[in-house]
This record gives sequence, structure tokens and C-alpha cells, in this order.
Amino acid sequence: MLTDTHAHLASRQFANDLPEIIERARAAGVKRIICIGTTLEDSKRVLEIADMYPEVEATVGIHPCDADTVKGDGFVEELKDLARHPKVVGIGEIGLDYYHQPPEGFTLDSWKEQQAFVLERQLELAAGLKLNVVLHNRESFEDLVAQVLPWSDRLRGVFHCFTGGSEQALPLIERGHLVSFTGIVTFKNGQVIQECARAVPSGGFMLETDCPYLAPMPFRGKRNEPAYVANTAEFVASLRGVRLEDLVSETGATAAAFFRKPA
Ligand SMILES: [Zn+2]
Ligand SMILES: [Zn+2]
Repeated sequence: MLTDTHAHLASRQFANDLPEIIERARAAGVKRIICIGTTLEDSKRVLEIADMYPEVEATVGIHPCDADTVKGDGFVEELKDLARHPKVVGIGEIGLDYYHQPPEGFTLDSWKEQQAFVLERQLELAAGLKLNVVLHNRESFEDLVAQVLPWSDRLRGVFHCFTGGSEQALPLIERGHLVSFTGIVTFKNGQVIQECARAVPSGGFMLETDCPYLAPMPFRGKRNEPAYVANTAEFVASLRGVRLEDLVSETGATAAAFFRKPA
């Protein structure tokens, strides 16, 4: 089942034509879209969108770049309430991001601490709810892995928008986690990721758009949308030397097992 496992449908960039975007996804054969939350507000909007379209499911969470939008740990109860929604299939996106400058009021150290705190509370929440997590990393891979691996017995994580090599991906997959490839894998300068996408075992990876960002070739630089996950699927199938329909059914099954409804 062709699945876009990471779409930001609540993005302002989709505010004017979401019905058309869903229509184009359907026409491209996309059967399931996981819509990802980034703040409490965004997560609420994500749930409204999930209510509107049968193929859209949701994750709720606080993105590391938005870790300054919460104070203390009151946000955990709010997220827990949102996670009761029947279309919630995971917690995310959560993680660490050392690429962007700290927001006002934070030093580099206090910002990293705040991100780690918000991440840890959400890992606890996910484990308690028996939900898996969508993980964001930017220039923070080692710290993220160190913080997530101790949870490996209680939850699985997908290292989304994976841009590392197979030597980074395989140990994570061995511990039950996943990686997920965006349109970056189709870029001419994407050799490291392409090597990784060839080497990872079936069942160890998923596909995503991360729309509205990171459109695959031939749409690079344009606004991305769920329909374009078909282009990434085609590219990865040919990289791996498998039939498109087999890749689609394998990655769809991987996503179905990962984004399961809580018991
Ligand atoms: Zn991300
Ligand atoms: Zn994202």
C-alpha cells in the first residue's frame, strides 16, 4: 500500500488547496498519509485534517525546534488528551535539532537541555501509551541515538528524513527501529543515502515526503505533496532492483506494523 509516512498537511502552504492535494494523492495511488504534528496547536489542526479524510492518520507531538513553546511538563497531559483521538497512530515529531540557532532567552546549552527534556517526556508518554515515535534529527544524530536507544525495549522509533549511511542505519534497525527516506534520496548528490537505501533490509525502512519540504526529482525546489511519494518509491525500487509493486507492498506493510492503533 503506497504510504506517505510523514506529511505536514497542517502547514500554511496547504491552507488554500488541501482538497486538491488529497485528490492528487489518491490519483497517484497513495492509500495512506500520516500527518505529523509539531506543536500542541499544530497537532490539534492535524487531528481536524485526519477527521476530514479517511486515508489520513495522525501523530501528535512537540518538534525540537518548537521546544520553547512549552513550559514545565504540563504539555504532557495535553498531548495525552490529544493522543486519545482514534486516528492517532504515533507520537511525533520529536527529537533534537542542533542546526537552528537557539530562540531568544536560551543559550546553546540551555536550548539543548530544553530539547532533551521535551524529548524525554514524550518518549515516556509514548511508551506509556504503547505508541511508536517519529524522530527528527538535524546535526544531533549521536545525542538522539544515545537518548532513544535505552527505550528500545518499550517503543520503536523511525529516524525520519534519514540522510546517513548504512553503517548508521543498520545498528538502529537491529534494535527494532526504522529509517525513512524522503525525496533527498532521488537527488544527484544523494549518493550516501542511495547506498543506504540499497543496503537496508526490507522491513527496515519506510518512505515519506516530509511535504511541503524536500520534493523529489523532478520536482526538486517546488512545494512537495503526498502524491510525490510515488516518485520516491519508483526511484528506490530501481535502486534496489525490485519491482515497484513489491517495494510498495513491503514498505506499506512496514508502515502498517509501525503505525498501529494502540490496544
Ligand atoms: Zn523532521
Ligand atoms: Zn517533519
